[in-house]
Amino acid sequence: MHEKILIVEDEERILQFLRRGLAYEGYRVLTAVNGTEGLQVARDNAPDLVILDWMLPEIEPGLDGLEVCRRLRAASDLPIIMLTAKESVSDRVLGLDAGADDYLVKPFALNELLARIRALVRRAKTEAPEILTFVDLRLDTGTHQVFRGERVVELTAKEYELLELFLRNPRQVLTRDLIFDRVWGYDFGGESNIIEVYVRYLRQKTESEGEPRLIHTVRGVGYVLREDS
Ligand code: CA
Repeated sequence: MHEKILIVEDEERILQFLRRGLAYEGYRVLTAVNGTEGLQVARDNAPDLVILDWMLPEIEPGLDGLEVCRRLRAASDLPIIMLTAKESVSDRVLGLDAGADDYLVKPFALNELLARIRALVRRAKTEAPEILTFVDLRLDTGTHQVFRGERVVELTAKEYELLELFLRNPRQVLTRDLIFDRVWGYDFGGESNIIEVYVRYLRQKTESEGEPRLIHTVRGVGYVLREDS
């Protein structure tokens, strides 16, 4: 307990609301009001989790929340929750692609944020390292490295989670609902094509040397990890 949470948010009202709410729950709270300061505070204090606003004043050109997310992710596996007023699916995909673990659209309820913080902190702490394998795919939950044969496969945070879900359920058809629930943890809306997008990324990366396909589409249902037949 007493995890350190860094909030990067330029809107004073929201920042104070979050600071009070998180402190009341027993978290130690660090704050920053732009990306430059956020990266500095993260470097100096090694927070356990970051709550990151997407739209931040750019003290350095291009250093919005998305870019802060990319830089934090490049440096560590620290859980990141992005906050945004943007609602379109493509924006959400961008945020998740930049390495965010979760995503909340403003306005949101504090309880919703607290639930997601607890889930991410718990996950970060309790994961005992495992090696998951299927055919020539190998995923190390300790180092977060993925291999296809001897080849290293570089994945974003969400691609990794999706592949981990497949590897934990080999040869089982995973429905779209189940995948949404396990990987994104909440509903993106009925028309979202986010699963298709991420399966496509995973296939591109795991088949880039012409290896046989392992993630197959089950039309109208979902996807399955199995040997090519
Ligand atoms: Ca903002």
